[in-house]
Amino acid sequence: MIMRLVRLTLLLFSLTSTSLSAADFAARYEAIKVSATPEQLYKFLYALPKGGDLHNHFGGSIIPEWKWDILTDSTRNGGDTFYTRARFAVSPDAVDPRVRYHTIRQHTYDQLDPQKQSEYVLLLELSDDQRTEWLNAFRLDAPGEGRHEFFAYTWDRLGDMHRNPHVRFEFLAEHIKAFAAEGLIYLETMFGLYTMTTNDGTVLSDEEALLMMEQRLAQPDVADTGMELRFLETILRFSPNALQDLEITYAWVNAHRDRWVGINMAGIEESGKGYPLRFLDTYRKMRSQYPTLPLSIHAGEMDSPDKNIRETLLLGATRIGHGVNILGDPDTLLMLQHSDRALIEVQLISNELLEYVPDLSQHPFPELLRTGVPVCLNTDDRGMWDSNMTDEYYTAVTYFNLSWEELTQLGRNSLTHSFLDDASKARVLSKYDARLQAFEKELGMGDLDDALTKIDHVDAVTYGYGNRKWGFEFSKE
Ligand SMILES: [Zn+2]
Repeated sequence: MIMRLVRLTLLLFSLTSTSLSAADFAARYEAIKVSATPEQLYKFLYALPKGGDLHNHFGGSIIPEWKWDILTDSTRNGGDTFYTRARFAVSPDAVDPRVRYHTIRQHTYDQLDPQKQSEYVLLLELSDDQRTEWLNAFRLDAPGEGRHEFFAYTWDRLGDMHRNPHVRFEFLAEHIKAFAAEGLIYLETMFGLYTMTTNDGTVLSDEEALLMMEQRLAQPDVADTGMELRFLETILRFSPNALQDLEITYAWVNAHRDRWVGINMAGIEESGKGYPLRFLDTYRKMRSQYPTLPLSIHAGEMDSPDKNIRETLLLGATRIGHGVNILGDPDTLLMLQHSDRALIEVQLISNELLEYVPDLSQHPFPELLRTGVPVCLNTDDRGMWDSNMTDEYYTAVTYFNLSWEELTQLGRNSLTHSFLDDASKARVLSKYDARLQAFEKELGMGDLDDALTKIDHVDAVTYGYGNRKWGFEFSKE
């Protein structure tokens, strides 16, 4: 019905108004940037067709309110019950309050000794104030919360919720639907099956978990979004077993290439174990055994200059996650400027909140974008920033005054540098072009006021980041 209305609107406009050609849309976009209110610009960018998200940690991407809804709804969580650590049995004053809100399943709770159990309360028994604290415990929303809060506490609070397959796949469904609503057509998320268990603690085999996942993804609410979905299996580079994990991961991804399209390495790039060259021999060994598997690897998410990006390219990566210290390695920058092969996955809000680039006006993104290095925008751990892809676009446009050509190149880059097979890549690229063309037609016809009126009717969604940073309060529903 909606499509029919859009078509009818288009027809009426083409009969009654002079229409702008697609080529003229760049000028229309500049006029929108000048005339639109901040809310209108945000809505415009929410409705913009956006390509894909290539740098997305699934575990860090779930909006806290989705967590609450799913963990407290037995029809969605497979009949499980969840507890959270809300008080301390022994010398409460000596316990760091930041360890609050570690959240666990019934089966895990049952294994605790009575004293430990007394520290946990049922999620549904939290007071309203505690519920708000619980939600906020999963996002960087308060002054002083930055890198330390994120690495030392936020992840730990997830407890074992992702071990429940119903919960994990409901999270995945929400994630896909929200991205589809803001115009993404592809999601390449860092996602593994890990060790999932039933409510009584029985371990599910990977293949059992995979079957459950595919059944969930086939439900109409997800399938109807048309989202193209692929996964990257990720290893933690600083783990003592990282080299062995890499070998196991190669075997898994190679055997499941219909869903898993590549490998990522995340985690601290230093501290004795995380440095890129530690992995070179193992990648070479794997390449002698398996057909090509694309690599996207975190590198250059550091405060000081180093050679990590260069050495990560030597590992065989064709995508670099973050690359925020690239300007400190001019030789590698020059190489990237003169080759279309490697893309840098940029995540502005992550770099801001984790204090790698606290002042975004200093971010290397415009230098990369405008000197020929392929880049795209990504959300990283958007659940913990409480943000979405539109926030990344809005940040890029407001800080760096992107042209229409630059803006749309970001979406195209994300698809061109995805790890999709050739046929699927051609399909999403033509879908992207068709959607852009329709978007340009819809907002390019009529006069500027007509376009702004249409933008006013966009049903945008924003979360805590947009609210705290810019004062936007669009509905979460
Ligand atoms: Zn990342």
